[in-house]
Amino acid sequence: MFLVNFVAEIQKTMVETPKNIAVIGATGSIGTQTLEIIDSHPELYRATVIAAGRRVDDLIALARKHRPALAVIADVNKYSVLRDALEPLGIRTAAGDQALCDAVCRDDVDMVVTATVGYSGLAPTIAAINAGKDIALANKETLVVAGRYITDLLSKSKSRVYPVDSEHSAIYQCLVGEDREKVKKLIITASGGPFRKWSVEQMAHAKASDALKHPNWSMGAKITIDSATMMNKAFEIIEAKWLFGFDVDKIEAVVHPQSIVHSMVEFTDGAIKAQLGLPDMKLPIAYALDEGRRLPGAEKPLSISDYATLTFERPDTDRFPCLTLAREAMHRGGNSACVINAANEIAVAAFLEGRIGFNDIYSVIVRTLDKISYIADPVYEDFVATNNEARIFAESILY
Ligand code: NDP
Ligand code: MG
Repeated sequence: MFLVNFVAEIQKTMVETPKNIAVIGATGSIGTQTLEIIDSHPELYRATVIAAGRRVDDLIALARKHRPALAVIADVNKYSVLRDALEPLGIRTAAGDQALCDAVCRDDVDMVVTATVGYSGLAPTIAAINAGKDIALANKETLVVAGRYITDLLSKSKSRVYPVDSEHSAIYQCLVGEDREKVKKLIITASGGPFRKWSVEQMAHAKASDALKHPNWSMGAKITIDSATMMNKAFEIIEAKWLFGFDVDKIEAVVHPQSIVHSMVEFTDGAIKAQLGLPDMKLPIAYALDEGRRLPGAEKPLSISDYATLTFERPDTDRFPCLTLAREAMHRGGNSACVINAANEIAVAAFLEGRIGFNDIYSVIVRTLDKISYIADPVYEDFVATNNEARIFAESILY
């Protein structure tokens, strides 16, 4: 079973009325770029719902500009500020996790962009699938935590999933029109992050400000740290498994420091197809919003002759052990990846706050994975319980 139907996607016809979009995680890196695309194409898109976690002032500013029907803030303590600013403008407001789930199910939502970070993406994504909404999936953690569960839900829903992550968008683009039986391998590129050339000893003393200096991409803080540990690539291997339905042993990561080749697919005849572009999320976001069609000028053009050299190297799993956790989690199955995700969120937050060192992120995850009880065939309540237990345990071992 796989989530992305890449065969004949290209044959769809354009819709005539603007598509109504719910952007959850509107104040973040993906969310704001999504709203910029929507703003540039009022004939194609309309933001009917925007939602955020805590940054109420940013959400209010976005609502004033984009005039959605509804603005939602997850943090209930910020509700009165949101309501007082927006209700006089005729914009409905709501707060809390349940309000977020209700918002994506509204009749005036055609597609949900899941641009929240971490475990918080799971519940609204499930709500959107149960309501039969199409999903532009940025929140990879949803598939890391509960890939099999989400896949099963999608098989019973009319929702379709379009990948936003640049590597998965690249693979999707390479697969259009191809026979999946002829796919030998998915090759996911990784920039290598800011510590690509650092020793383990150097990384032990790395500060948050060092890890936040991503060489090619401008992203939210959590995914930027995940890129530095290469946990992001581990998560992307799991994400690719569930999106495209290939075993993790057929998915490989390769370090490509220029971030021009966004990913590749190798076929049984030896051919390798790649998708190239500048490191800019506008193209994959637009490709997902447009359900696998091409929006003219979605991204600045790449002048290929400016790149005399594109290089590729094997990742160093000794220096970046988080990368191996993807395969380990998939081989263990059950709730293992949910544990890894929860422990990673706690450890990354602690590193950003200066409470633990960079190399401790991996240790916290491994110790948590050893401690939390294994559940072979988790249902939704098991993910909730596992996420809570793993967070509490990971927090308890921080030093
Ligand atoms: P950011 O940190 O920039 O933004 C996160 C967004 O999620 C913010 O709008 C934030 O709101 C919101 N949010 C946080 N917690 C909650 C919550 N509990 N309930 C509702 N909303 C919440 O993240 P990014 O945009 O960088 O990443 C978003 C997702 O996209 C991640 O899963 C990431 O892995 C994925 N992704 C990102 C890429 C990128 O280029 N940035 C590339 C590929 C994938 P607030 O700030 O108001 O609290
Ligand atoms: Mg990516």
